[in-house]
Amino acid sequence: MEDWQTAFEQAGWKNAILAREWPEADTTMSLEDARFSVIRYFASDIQNACGPNVHDPRSGEILESHIGWYHDVMRLVKNWYTTQVGAVDARARPNTFDDNLMGELIRFVAAHEVGHTLGLRHNFGASHATPVEKLRDQAWLSENGHTSSIMDYARFNYVAQPEDGVTDLIGRIGAYDRWAIEWNYKPIYNTNSQEEDRKILNKWYLDKAAGNRALHFLTEQSTFDPRAQSEDLGNDAILASEYGIKNLQRILPNAIEWTREEAKDYTRAEEVYDNVFGQFRRYIGHVTKWVGGIFDTPKTFDQSGVIFEPAPKDMQKRAVSFLQTNLFQPPMWLMDQEITNKIKAENGVKQLADLQQSTINSLYSTDRLQRLIDASALNPETYSLEEFFNDMHNGIWSELKTGSIPSVYRRNLQKIHLEKIIALIETAASSNGTIGTYFRSTSSVDPVLTDIRSLSMGMLKEVHADLKKLIKRTPDRLTKFHYQDCLKRIEKALEMEDE
Ligand SMILES: [Zn+2]
Repeated sequence: MEDWQTAFEQAGWKNAILAREWPEADTTMSLEDARFSVIRYFASDIQNACGPNVHDPRSGEILESHIGWYHDVMRLVKNWYTTQVGAVDARARPNTFDDNLMGELIRFVAAHEVGHTLGLRHNFGASHATPVEKLRDQAWLSENGHTSSIMDYARFNYVAQPEDGVTDLIGRIGAYDRWAIEWNYKPIYNTNSQEEDRKILNKWYLDKAAGNRALHFLTEQSTFDPRAQSEDLGNDAILASEYGIKNLQRILPNAIEWTREEAKDYTRAEEVYDNVFGQFRRYIGHVTKWVGGIFDTPKTFDQSGVIFEPAPKDMQKRAVSFLQTNLFQPPMWLMDQEITNKIKAENGVKQLADLQQSTINSLYSTDRLQRLIDASALNPETYSLEEFFNDMHNGIWSELKTGSIPSVYRRNLQKIHLEKIIALIETAASSNGTIGTYFRSTSSVDPVLTDIRSLSMGMLKEVHADLKKLIKRTPDRLTKFHYQDCLKRIEKALEMEDE
């Protein structure tokens, strides 16, 4: 709680916030008493915490808080810590953490909740201010931390590699938090109206924060700004995720060894496996959001430049390429038999297909496709719908060009892709897409009335022609059946003459 003192000092207040242990001996005091602001513990298996406040709506003055601490938030941070930095910090590996480490993790969550109580919202854009390579630089990290705000969901430094010697792995109060407290709490003297106050606040903002990326705020509610994401790190989600995956590949083979306990079953090892898979899914989500991404930078009239602009083409192309390499080519490192044959009956074929399917559904959601159409309409330098269709087609159907035999994972993927494209040409006005949410525009997209349908049909015809050529000379029986099946599906969807 008292970590926030540095922020209040920057705003001109000393000893502004002090924490005391609850005096158990004093029977006249009650946690329910509105005169006391408290952090209260709940004996609950909910993996969360909350930081509410009661404030006077006329002045904004915060009157009271009762931060809630559910017991199993400690299980949550333990699992995150093992999964994100287990390759770098040996303390992250035992089934039970030592009290010093758990104390640091509790401090990290408590500071975040106190931030809410003081009036701060989530700043999901804070972590994007940090260049990814700085996440591997201990000197830089000890100065700045891995994110400029504890109010981001930027948990632990999963980018740092074992050879980097980084010990700064846990989020803490940063430059944005100190600035936000300064802006909110620094007294303004000798003014006569709210209008004058507002002008002074705006001048502070323009002088101090507007030009400093580390002090920027991005909402937690943007469905299309890839810089504003939860659980991500650094200014390049593709590079950060590559480093993150390298660490997951170091952690997973140790799942049995790290959780080994005499006379116990493999429940803990299964937990490690599931958390590694979940973390991998997060990286896939972070990268996916770059495709068709639109930056949404809040600005006042006093600032120059645009508010909305498409994410750079190079990032969008790299994002699709990352997905081809790390997800559409099967991530065999996740199918580690040494572990899966101890924890589940399946070997991950369906689990991987499900993740591929949800990613493909997200990539081809009509709102994302409409953003690609919009972004390239007036600017040919922007990543276009046609390029996206080409890049996806070339990766997912690469066997049609190379003639190599697709594995079971690739056959599943090709069927999933085919069905999604067919759905796009068959989806009439009952569109599921909306352009953005919240208070932005919410008009729905009908793919039949756009190039989405034309490109989908064109792609199906190209796949059809390639399949026709290849099917005769494919030596593998199952591959031949797979291709025949794909051909039939395309012919039915395009109402082609049966041959
Ligand atoms: Zn929060």
